[in-house]
Amino acid sequence: MNQIPVSSPRLARSATSDVIVVGAGLAGLFTALKLAPHPVTVVSAARFGEGASSLWAQAGIAAALAEGDSPEAHAADTITAGAGIVDEKIALLLAREARERVEDLLRYGVPFDKDLEGRLTFSREAAHGKSRILHVKGDTAGRAIMHALMAAVRATPSITVLEGLAARDLALSDGRVAGLEVAPTDDATLARLILPASAVVLATGGAGQIYAITTNPREARGEGIAIAARAGAVIADAEFVQFHPTAINIGRDPAPLATEALRGEGATLINSRGERFMRAVHEDAELGPRDVVARAVYREVASGRGAFLDCRSLGDELALHFPTVYAACRSAGIDPAEDPIPVAPAAHYHMGGILTDAQGRSTVDGLWACGEVASTGAHGANRLASNSLLEAVVFGARVANDIAASLLTPLAARAEQESPAVGSGHDERLEQVVRRTMSAEVGVIRDETSLTKALGTILSLEPEAKGDQRLANMLTTAKLIAAAAFARKESRGAHFRSDYPVPDEHLAQRSFLTLNMANEIARVALEAPSRETRVRPRVVAMRGAALNA
Ligand SMILES: Cc1cc2nc3c(=O)[nH]c(=O)nc-3n(C[C@H](O)[C@H](O)[C@H](O)COP(=O)(O)OP(=O)(O)OC[C@H]3O[C@@H](n4cnc5c(N)ncnc54)[C@H](O)[C@@H]3O)c2cc1C
Repeated sequence: MNQIPVSSPRLARSATSDVIVVGAGLAGLFTALKLAPHPVTVVSAARFGEGASSLWAQAGIAAALAEGDSPEAHAADTITAGAGIVDEKIALLLAREARERVEDLLRYGVPFDKDLEGRLTFSREAAHGKSRILHVKGDTAGRAIMHALMAAVRATPSITVLEGLAARDLALSDGRVAGLEVAPTDDATLARLILPASAVVLATGGAGQIYAITTNPREARGEGIAIAARAGAVIADAEFVQFHPTAINIGRDPAPLATEALRGEGATLINSRGERFMRAVHEDAELGPRDVVARAVYREVASGRGAFLDCRSLGDELALHFPTVYAACRSAGIDPAEDPIPVAPAAHYHMGGILTDAQGRSTVDGLWACGEVASTGAHGANRLASNSLLEAVVFGARVANDIAASLLTPLAARAEQESPAVGSGHDERLEQVVRRTMSAEVGVIRDETSLTKALGTILSLEPEAKGDQRLANMLTTAKLIAAAAFARKESRGAHFRSDYPVPDEHLAQRSFLTLNMANEIARVALEAPSRETRVRPRVVAMRGAALNA
């Protein structure tokens, strides 16, 4: 691997290859490794080994490999969790390719937990019918997987990593990708630069940071979605944002996560009066579906009663089996063996994203996407826990295969011009306004009034984001999510509308939105909120391939 810090942007430009992967999380690194020995440039907003959700994954990766389990059973659980809109072919493909991809990870040196006879061990998680989660030393799966892949990338000379460089836009030529516009992540005063490329893979992760409370790292601003949408790409299922019910509420950004497994081990949810409020909400109490628990926690917090995860029954086991959670609590002066942990719902995972087909192709020529930024159809309205790491590697491999095949034919001309644009500085204050607006109006519980208000705020901030492409990208992604949520007049999975609280069978379809459609929805919402603006799912032509074939 060649590692180039952003202090030498010109060197960075000369070092780029035909294929650029944006993002150095699991999806990006896996794609780059699978493309070797073809030269690949990985652009990472953060330093190598930082700023990726993948590093923080606690539970592990789902794979139906245990005796008595099957890919069909895994796919069936995925389809049930997705609340009626999972693409079943994609769910099956995901579950079937888990074995090969786990074998890859083992080859890269991931130390998944094994029993004394050297066989992989599996744990069970909510909504999985079988024990099928591969983990590493309790809650450190993400870090272990990433460290193994980073070592593999370091040992691969065909991969160049440009650190501290953020993608801001795509350069297009005749509607096809010809390059990537980048800028130093933290210095908006430097001139932006176009890195020529004939194939760009967006693997920029989630969009949690457009919300005030999130478990996602600072870099997860949803910029990949905005970049793709501006180039004309179709964005799917944008309204479906999964809120984790138990982020540790200690005023830290991002909020540390108290993994669901704690509730599996017997931790309960109480309010400041000591009442176990989940008992009245769901028959499975704390082990109810993630979205149901998130709404109940939200209501307790909003009512002023507060919500706490009571882990006192776990005693010293917590420090032993959940070292990450224990360390987060201790750093805030909380001893979870003595004190209930304050929690709140936090934006955690985005089911929506750039619409991709089974090869990871977007609807724009030369643009692929994989990992959380993509919407493959595997998650529907609600992601099944631990399926996202699996999706990152399954589709990372598929994207690499597809690009490798397309490299056999000459790729389009690469952009050679340098962008004249100069950043005008980033407005942190406006970024916080966006985040607060999204949490308050497009959060765990939405309705027409709140969504209209959010769209109004987003549109009013857009002129102020001129020259501040990072903020503009956040606003674009926020608008796509709010517009899709406005248009879906029902509740389904993670999308809960208090004015339409039940699912509508006629709307049991994925949503497909372009930026123009989102602008139109926003315009209609602000002019006459009650007018019909249902997003009508459309079949989108995918360059010769049937959608989600
Ligand atoms: C706390 C936590 C726990 C989780 N636990 C689990 C779990 O146990 N199992 C599971 O399956 N899933 C889990 N998830 C979800 C899972 O971690 C993510 O969905 C997955 O890691 C996404 O991988 P990715 O490669 O797409 O994105 P990431 O790993 O987030 O990587 C994105 C990369 O893109 C870079 N980037 C972002 N924007 C730009 C830009 N504009 N320009 C350049 N680079 C950019 C980032 O710096 C980063 O390198 C968890 C998530 C969190 C936050």
